[in-house]
Amino acid sequence: MMTGGWWVLLVACLLCAVGLSARPVSAAGMSIAVSNTAPAIGDPVLVEVGANGAVDNLVLRWKRAAWPMREIAPGRYEGLIGVDLDDPAGPAVVAAEGILDGARVRAEAEVTVSPRKFAVQELTLPKGMAEFDNATLVRIGAEAAELSRRFSRVTPPRWRTPFLPPVEEYRPANFGARRVINGDPRMPHAAVDIRLPAGTPVRAIADGRVAFAGEQFFGGRSVVIDHGGGVFSVYYHLKEFSVAEGQEISRGDRVGSVGATGRATGPHLHFGVRVPGGRVDPTRLLALPGR
Ligand SMILES: [Zn+2]
Repeated sequence: MMTGGWWVLLVACLLCAVGLSARPVSAAGMSIAVSNTAPAIGDPVLVEVGANGAVDNLVLRWKRAAWPMREIAPGRYEGLIGVDLDDPAGPAVVAAEGILDGARVRAEAEVTVSPRKFAVQELTLPKGMAEFDNATLVRIGAEAAELSRRFSRVTPPRWRTPFLPPVEEYRPANFGARRVINGDPRMPHAAVDIRLPAGTPVRAIADGRVAFAGEQFFGGRSVVIDHGGGVFSVYYHLKEFSVAEGQEISRGDRVGSVGATGRATGPHLHFGVRVPGGRVDPTRLLALPGR
């Protein structure tokens, strides 16, 4: 539902059906609205498209890639995009494209990404926790490559707002923290950490399918759920996981429990989310209004 003043209706245009370099010829047929025209770095943004009929081959274009949208009512579609925590601030365009009544249509919305400051954390760790031998580096590289391969599979959207917090006592910390370990700058922390006693149940934030369930060097016992449409949630350092790869999951199903496996200094849940466009702040995702 497009409710409240925060939905802003923007430009709609009909593209010439002739040739690949079609240009706008009229402002009719399809409209696009975003939940936030001024997202900060790390923010997710809901996108709604409306048309005077069914749109065939509808895709959402964001950051030079195309993503599927979900029909929520006849002629109304919903999608989710995000500003990665490493993206720059500044203007950007999200567009919807498809075929309406036999003609190519395109609607665009402009957003202005605002900067966000992240904490810098200086950590001093024993050498064994901060430096790795060759075999370990090879393992870390292989695990990262395998995960990004799984993140690149786009399945039909199954997510739905509102997302459910993964634990009952949701007290997030550290999103986007720029970590400096023993004086060495590392990758920004692309998730939140939630300190909780070992054994605390962890649950799925939305419907989906288990894309990964296994043991990783950094993540320890790890679960990744594919919610469709390029939306994934990740749960690391689990004491145990209670799901298997390929398993169908409903929102709220138990995934496992909080632990300290992998590179963790104490029991906590490392919880991250990925949407079309990148890694966003899970807390902002959970705050998206339900329909
Ligand atoms: Zn973490």
